[in-house]
Amino acid sequence: MLHMEKLDNNPVVRDLRKTKEILWLNPDHVPFAQAQLALTAVDIDDAERRLQRFAPLIMKYFPETIPAQGIIESPLVRIPDMQRDLQEKEQMPIDGTLLLKQDSDLAIAGSVKARGGIYEVLKHTEELALRHGLLHEQDVKNGSAQAYEALAHRKDFFHQYTVQVGSTGNLGLSIGIMSAVIGYQAVVHMSADARQWKKDLLRQYGVTVKEYESDYSSAVKQGRALSDADSNSYFVDDENSKNLFLGYAVAAKRLKKQLETMGLAPNEQRPLFVYLPCGVGGAPGGITFGLKQVFGDAVHCFFVEPTQAPCMLLGMATGLNNRICVKDIGLTGLTHADGLAVGRPFGFVGGVMKPLLSGICTVADFRLYQYMRDLLKTENIFIEPSSCAAFAGLRYFSQLVMQKYLEQHNLIQQLPQAIHIAWATGGALVPEEIREQYQHTYL
Ligand SMILES: *Cc1c(COP(=O)(O)O)cnc(C)c1O
Repeated sequence: MLHMEKLDNNPVVRDLRKTKEILWLNPDHVPFAQAQLALTAVDIDDAERRLQRFAPLIMKYFPETIPAQGIIESPLVRIPDMQRDLQEKEQMPIDGTLLLKQDSDLAIAGSVKARGGIYEVLKHTEELALRHGLLHEQDVKNGSAQAYEALAHRKDFFHQYTVQVGSTGNLGLSIGIMSAVIGYQAVVHMSADARQWKKDLLRQYGVTVKEYESDYSSAVKQGRALSDADSNSYFVDDENSKNLFLGYAVAAKRLKKQLETMGLAPNEQRPLFVYLPCGVGGAPGGITFGLKQVFGDAVHCFFVEPTQAPCMLLGMATGLNNRICVKDIGLTGLTHADGLAVGRPFGFVGGVMKPLLSGICTVADFRLYQYMRDLLKTENIFIEPSSCAAFAGLRYFSQLVMQKYLEQHNLIQQLPQAIHIAWATGGALVPEEIREQYQHTYL
């Protein structure tokens, strides 16, 4: 049982309960060298090599990835007109350079879930193939393109197996599409938040979509139970998966190269601020973990959550992680940001983020559509409303809490050189008529 009285003495919980937009600074954030971590850079390297091994198969199934040689990666672009617009309209002073990381355009799934989700399906595939002699240790060691490509002729084999996942939409798209293409029977358990077009698209791929009236956590729970009852079924558990987490983490090494190419490598003189929309925490957590491994103290990561679903903030600020959910403090968990509509965080992530994360802020839904329209107008780039939460991270630069953080970390002098990355987490697959609807949504 939760001690509600004690919780009510916590000023952060009081603000969250009132659905105030706040920035919470993580009191346990320490210099990177002092962080105690259960995973290391070796784990990320292992994930990166696995994705590399599967590149020939990815190219075969998804020819759009051929130019990037089977590596699923997204552009990093300057958005100076959006930067100007934000500064003027929202009175956010943004010193330095604002960039957009377009995971909204990632191949196959059109969202950040193309990182974790596809990685986990491939990892499972490699394990199954090894166990049943479709791949051999030697193929793994040598990264045999031929052996991995040959898996495309074994759809019959994979069809004996099922992959299942619970989702608010985008994870289902990523796991569902990848699983179906490899040959698996795929079942996606969709929570009530999931948009119709995502269910329709999955059904076109031959994926079984089960719909629930309930929230995300119970869709996961029911999916997990059904999967556990079938020994040939594998459940991708977004609330507990280290595989997903490591798939996301690979993003950091790729980002490093992109920043270097642009002449913007982060260092002590050029701090990097990253704003990541957060649902259950796996994607922003994995990316943050990777970024800290790569850039150490030069990077400052902030999550952004909807005011009605601040599950990670609630978990970290109370120290209860996944032992508390937003309903416990009287919030609905309902938000237009369907990709972030999560009431209970991934517990493992809260632990890993404890020494690494700079802070978490919350955003009201109405701003998401505003940012979406502004980005479209200024840069002609479409991203989905959930993604737009990233821009809310910048609002706090003019506020006292953030000033305190900047002073504590000796960052004031370096701000003119700072790099800000708004991490756009989804959008490419949103159908035209839905984009039209979003454009006319005012809350
Ligand atoms: C899933 C998702 C996120 C957040 O990822 P989590 O792992 O749930 O925290 C952010 N934006 C979009 C569009 C998403 O689909």
